[in-house]
Amino acid sequence: METKNVKRVPLNGTLELTARCNLRCKMCLIRVDEKRMTELGGRERTTKEWIQLAREMFDAGTIGLLLTGGEPMLRGDFCQIYKAVAQMGFLLTLYTNATLVTPEVMEVLKAYPPHSIGITTYGASPETYEKVTGSASAYNKMIEGVRRLRQLPSKLTIRTTLIKDNANDLRKMSEWAFSIGRDVDFNVSRIVTKAVRGGIAEVESCRLTAEENVAMLRERSKEFIMEPFSRFIKEHPEVIKKEKIKKEKIKKEKIPTTIFKNADNDITNPKGQTVKEKLTLYGCEAGMSAYTITWDGKLIGCQMLGNCWTYPFETGFMQAWKDYPKQVNLQPMPEQCKGCEITCSACPATRQAETGSIGGFPEYLCQESKLAHAMEMKMIAEMQQFIEEKGRLEYETI
Ligand code: SF4
Ligand code: SF4
Repeated sequence: METKNVKRVPLNGTLELTARCNLRCKMCLIRVDEKRMTELGGRERTTKEWIQLAREMFDAGTIGLLLTGGEPMLRGDFCQIYKAVAQMGFLLTLYTNATLVTPEVMEVLKAYPPHSIGITTYGASPETYEKVTGSASAYNKMIEGVRRLRQLPSKLTIRTTLIKDNANDLRKMSEWAFSIGRDVDFNVSRIVTKAVRGGIAEVESCRLTAEENVAMLRERSKEFIMEPFSRFIKEHPEVIKKEKIKKEKIKKEKIPTTIFKNADNDITNPKGQTVKEKLTLYGCEAGMSAYTITWDGKLIGCQMLGNCWTYPFETGFMQAWKDYPKQVNLQPMPEQCKGCEITCSACPATRQAETGSIGGFPEYLCQESKLAHAMEMKMIAEMQQFIEEKGRLEYETI
């Protein structure tokens, strides 16, 4: 393993405090139940273990800490762990489905407000919640939980993942999210991969097909990009006429640069080049400045990754962090991807989730990426044509 000149600093950590959840979302990538935990041979870590490890992480330089699950508030010791890590001085983020925000939880959150809270929501009615999560009553609990969390000074982000059962609620969900306040963000995940690390959800049966997914993206783009854009051009043609716009060649691709060079595996990007300038493990921050500690006590690059890990509870955090690259077994890009120049939604982790190997060819993601790319190109062409017709632009081509 060639690691010289590569600085890895464990700046951002995630603690997956549990993979259990009080909801049963059809598309959850992580959730396991007690039975599966036994099958997997893992155990959740104790209060003392998490707090001790967090202290080691802090001492090792971790600044940003995400507490997540499963549903972290399902743990009876959530408040105890939260308070201990908050007192250490991390920049805290909390992910929750907001259905278990008790007065006791609020007391500790008020005393130590997290920097930000990501609230996962699953629909705009009890009926949709029933379909997606198996619990109709969770909808009103979530609404009440959000009302309580709103009392905190924390930055709130409402998050949702779209599947067949809740895609039609998207407009209502976004209207509701924005009605909470102008400072609240709304974050939509359209792409759902198969479950990782033994997660029990059968995602394939509930996720949108690639075509449905891109059709929805087209609708959103029409509403939030095309329509405001054409309105603006119509209302302000003078702005456009006076502008001299440089028509840049569209940068088509962010080439995955997955190259922490492994002695056994030469890594090539989709163009067939071995890239050595930027040394990373997976082409992103995973394992370089970010990491996750899984519910059963493994250190991995990110929560989406499903293999290659070290054991921080056994060796100590710093040793596990140092050893991690040695465990990473990179694979060459799939043959089918060589030469592909479009922006792809696949990465090593999602390839692994979809195919069982980080070098596998993820057909679903490929199809979605190609359809989305074609849609984007068409939209850009339409915008350019619109500008030429309505704004009489002068182009300076470079
Ligand atoms: S998965 Fe498909 S879209 Fe992605 S890089 Fe490979 S060929 Fe291109
Ligand atoms: S999901 Fe993929 S891109 Fe994101 S951190 Fe993990 S490996 Fe990197």
